[in-house]
Order: sequence, then C-alpha cells, then structure tokens
Amino acid sequence: MKHLYICYPQGRYKAVTLSYDDGRIEDRRLVSILNRYGLKGTFHLNFGYLNGKDKGEEERYGKRIAEEEVSTLYQGHEVACHSVYHPTLIRCPHTFITEQIMEDRKGLENLTGYPVCGFSYPNGAFSQDIKEFLKSLGIEYGRIVGNTERFDIPDDFMEWKATCHHNHRLLELTDLFLTKEREQHLNLMYVWGHSYEFTRDDNWELIEEFARRIGGKEDIWYATNIEICRYMQAFHRLVFTADSKKVYYNPSSQSVWLSADGEIVEAVPGKLTEF
Ligand SMILES: [Zn+2]
Repeated sequence: MKHLYICYPQGRYKAVTLSYDDGRIEDRRLVSILNRYGLKGTFHLNFGYLNGKDKGEEERYGKRIAEEEVSTLYQGHEVACHSVYHPTLIRCPHTFITEQIMEDRKGLENLTGYPVCGFSYPNGAFSQDIKEFLKSLGIEYGRIVGNTERFDIPDDFMEWKATCHHNHRLLELTDLFLTKEREQHLNLMYVWGHSYEFTRDDNWELIEEFARRIGGKEDIWYATNIEICRYMQAFHRLVFTADSKKVYYNPSSQSVWLSADGEIVEAVPGKLTEF
C-alpha cells in the first residue's frame, strides 16, 4: 500500500494567507505591498460603513474605502463578510444576525460579482450557537482573534484562529515557518490584523519585511482564506477505494494533489485517479 498524503496544489506543503478586517483606507497600501510580493489575502468588509456612509463612525475610527473601489482594489484577493454594522453577535437575536450577514453578503456580492462566503467575527465574539447558525446563512468559515503560534489547518473552520496577529512575533514565526522542512505536515502561515494598525503603530516596515521574506517562493502556495478552506473541503470529498489505490472520483470542481510514496499525483475533477 502506498503512503498517501494530501498536498497543496502542485504538491506543495506550505501555504501562506492573510486576513484583514474593517476595510479602512490603509487597505490600499497593504494590498499594494501584498501585490508587489505575490501574496494573497482576505479582506473582511462592513458594507454599511463603506463610502463613509456613517460619518460618526468614520470620525471616531478612521476612513473606510469606497464601494467603487472594492472590485478593483481587492482584485486577486478575497472580499469577505464582517457584518453590515459590526455588532457583537453573541448579544444579538437570530433575526438581527440574519440581516447583518445577508445584507453584508448581498451588498458585497453586488460589488464583486461572486458569492461572499468568508467571515470574521466582529469583535472576535462567537459561540457554538452562532457558529452553527452562520452555516445556514452560507458562511463557510469564521476567523476568530488570537494567536496559535502554530502552522496548522484548523479542526473547525468556523473557529479559525490565525498563526499570529502581525504585532505578535511575526518575523520570528515567519523564519520558523520558512525553515520547516518536514513534509509530514501540511503547513499554513496565517497572519491577521487591521491595516490601520500599521499607521497607528508606525510599523509599515514590519509587513513589508514579512512580505519580502515570505513572498516569491516556488514551494509556497499563496492563497486567500476561502481558497484554503475550499481546497480542504475538496480533499475530504474525494472518494477513495478501501485499498487506497484509487480516487474513484473527485466530486469537486477543482483538482486535489496527493503524494503517493513521494510521487505527486493530481486528482482531476470527476475523474478516476490511480496510484
Ligand atoms: Zn472588525
């Protein structure tokens, strides 16, 4: 029996993703840095605050990007849901949560043209009940706050904690990630934060240095949050024969890569793959 392992696309075993909340105008500078180094990220937006629709909120917390910019600014990255008005969901009834998610989704989908199914919990607040409820609204993953200081794929994508906030040991963890050579693990470096924090803390050079160190590497898959989530879903849906000699078929619309005794094999959608 050959030893089978899931790999990232093209047989890689390292991936990098980023997740930034609130859609403030500093996203422009962050996106330009990510683009320069070939990194991909996810941007969680509050549709109700785009375009400076709420002047009081902007005066207190800073300017948001405009609706007209969304499709061009975030091209190649993921636009994701963060609720319409950023309420702490654990204090809200289901009716209100439904509106907060669906109106955000619909507004953002009109701007992007694709289903907006990613999510980060406003103020990091979630419960078992909310995790389950959000799935019924089409949400596929929910990012929480905090730092795992690890490079793991989450057990539960509705409770997805990043490796680190950018202000938490970022370059140290980056160097550790880059030196990992154990192919037995599927590694993910996941960084989160708010782009306005770089201006507030006067540390734009931190994310620039991170991007410079980790960008442009052949052996790393640069992906958005939902690309990673959906890739793992596609792997779990593969239909194997009991002897593990075949993927009888891959029911998803994307290829999944496997290592069979070290040989990289692509399980193509809808097809039989033998090892
Ligand atoms: Zn937020």
